[in-house]
Amino acid sequence: MTRSLAMRYATGYFDSGAFHADLARRVGFRTEGGAVELRGYLEQEMAPAAERLGAVPRILDNPVCAGKPLLVAHRHEGDDRPTALLYGHADVVPADARGWRAGLDPWSVTVEGTRWYGRGTADNKGQHTVNLAALEQVLKARGGSLGFNLTILIETAEESGSPGLAQFCAEQRAELAADLLIASDGPRVAAGRPTVFLGTRGTADFALSVRLRDRSYQSGSWGGALRNAATVLANAISCLVDGRGEILVPGLRPPPIPPEVRTALRTIPVGNDPDDPAVDEDWGEPGLTPAERVVGWNTLEVLSLTAGEPDAPFGEIPGTAHARCHLRFVVGTDTEALTDAVRMHLDQHGFRMVDVVPGAVLPATRTDPGDRWVRFALTSLERTAGSPPALLPNFGGSLPNDAFAGELGLPTIWIPHSYSACDQHAPDEHLLAPLAREALGLMAGLFWDLGEAEAPHRVAGQE
Ligand SMILES: [Zn+2]
Repeated sequence: MTRSLAMRYATGYFDSGAFHADLARRVGFRTEGGAVELRGYLEQEMAPAAERLGAVPRILDNPVCAGKPLLVAHRHEGDDRPTALLYGHADVVPADARGWRAGLDPWSVTVEGTRWYGRGTADNKGQHTVNLAALEQVLKARGGSLGFNLTILIETAEESGSPGLAQFCAEQRAELAADLLIASDGPRVAAGRPTVFLGTRGTADFALSVRLRDRSYQSGSWGGALRNAATVLANAISCLVDGRGEILVPGLRPPPIPPEVRTALRTIPVGNDPDDPAVDEDWGEPGLTPAERVVGWNTLEVLSLTAGEPDAPFGEIPGTAHARCHLRFVVGTDTEALTDAVRMHLDQHGFRMVDVVPGAVLPATRTDPGDRWVRFALTSLERTAGSPPALLPNFGGSLPNDAFAGELGLPTIWIPHSYSACDQHAPDEHLLAPLAREALGLMAGLFWDLGEAEAPHRVAGQE
């Protein structure tokens, strides 16, 4: 019963082909959003996996969203032991089968060299399969005990913004009470560099809309007499964010980057993998490094822009123009005031005719890098990998972490098992096999160490 035995079991699970078999079977569930497939995945894959861990699974209805059930399973070893909450999601983005390269099928795992292709291999089936398997190998290596209490939570609506998750966590607060969250999703900072992130940037969607007339008019007869909706919208956008990506609305800018975040970001690369695009050094907030711009700052993105007839512009002045935008934002940004800030800024610049339509907001989160469980996880991963993992105070993307950090008040430790060029929401999604194998060892080491960890000393009012 040793740590190295647990890790040997975990990599042995990979080398035996069992990891491939488990993942291939799970990818075969077409969990794009249909209620039958989502429930089937929970019943046929997640419930047995929980039972093998000695955790009793229950499948519960989503409080706000029919057909998007959640699985909760709990294993209790002792009140004096720490409790880990493990999270994953069963749903995947639409397969988009026609976009995949010839020879690949989104619903089966195709191995090409180190790449394992299939929808969900990276997001999120491959990642939660690593974690569940590592737990099972630790249980075996410790002779039937984990050394800690475990709660597993698998949801089925993450790709549609996790409706109901926060409410579910609030309703099941006692059941989900834990000392820390351990979860895996998203990419490492580079394929070869184990990574921990402690929170997420949030997103705030909004649309800009210019409606001047019901139809378009010929520019030969009317150009010069009629305002052009597309021109107005383009200029309105450029007063919010300039031509090199700097945000010009004071209310959309974050507070200064805290020194501990700056320090943590000093060695973080952006775009280091072969398939990554080249980073634009002269884009975004001036004076910041790429990592500071992606992790520590806000960015205003125009996601789509339409006016007129893009494929047949026959000399017409468009009467309407629309843009969908969002702000990716860090902790400390006042998103309640976002719509008002945009409205006021547009008014001040003479764009009263541009409507601002607020959309969904996913909050930003960030666990304190000095938290004892963060230090515990970093130490454990370093012990296994031989060098310190990359630490991101928050991830550049968005995840439903507010349910855990906010609703449940947990320190949230995310250990991603994918990389940024994995195409997780596009055709040709894949998992890197060597990374998955390494991740099994890292997670087995972490779960082993959690079983050895001193139980947390809870101070009243400081949970
Ligand atoms: Zn996703």
